[in-house]
Amino acid sequence: MHLIDTHSHVYDHQFSLDRNEAVQRALEAGVTMMLLPNVDASTIAPMLDLHEQFPDCTRVMMGLQPEEVKEDYKAVLATMEKELERNIYIGVGEVGLDFYWDSTFEKEQNDAFETQLDWAKQLHLPLSIHCRNAFDKMVKILEKHQDGGLSGIMHCFTGTEDEAKAYLGLGFHLGLGGVTTYKNCGVKDYLHNIPLNRIVLETDAPYLAPVPHRGKRNEPAFMVATARKIAEILNVTLKEIATITTNNALKLFQIAP
Ligand SMILES: [Zn+2]
Repeated sequence: MHLIDTHSHVYDHQFSLDRNEAVQRALEAGVTMMLLPNVDASTIAPMLDLHEQFPDCTRVMMGLQPEEVKEDYKAVLATMEKELERNIYIGVGEVGLDFYWDSTFEKEQNDAFETQLDWAKQLHLPLSIHCRNAFDKMVKILEKHQDGGLSGIMHCFTGTEDEAKAYLGLGFHLGLGGVTTYKNCGVKDYLHNIPLNRIVLETDAPYLAPVPHRGKRNEPAFMVATARKIAEILNVTLKEIATITTNNALKLFQIAP
């Protein structure tokens, strides 16, 4: 079995004591590739270190996470744009909009997101998109920019069926993670209406661990629990879910099998 964790921050400081072991546990569990989205200027070096250490089973993305968009975002974006010239990045992420805690930097978040959508188009790279408390604004911006040149994942998707269909209609994939295994998550009620070729799996490690690990630090190996839950919901085998979601991720990010 080969699973791809399409959104994993294994380079995070929460793994400083057992990072290598966490990668080994992932490989042993069948999570044979981890895609690493960037967060801010400070995470670039640790992310690249991890990729250098595990070049076969990790891939890197570049982007500024919306919660980290502050007064200095233009300078940070300039650094990231320069990084992208190195051609080692398979995607632009994580990027997006997040107005959960506050909207202080709403204007800046919009501007940073639109700039990064332009990068994705120019470089023909898929996106890893973070959206929290911003569905209407997100759809508006994506509609404005989608000219056939944008693709990617709505990472940690937990919305309604209508929201899912809006993103599918805009050409995006849904990234399903640990939240899908939570009792109150509505996605399982309509998951059978979502085309399987538009679903990818993720952990968002170290956050949002799936049941039965809920509340603990999340890690890529735990993604098997999410895959198993989705297989159960759709009444297919774990192996089928693994094959389909892995192929979807390989294709989307243009990674050779
Ligand atoms: Zn993330």
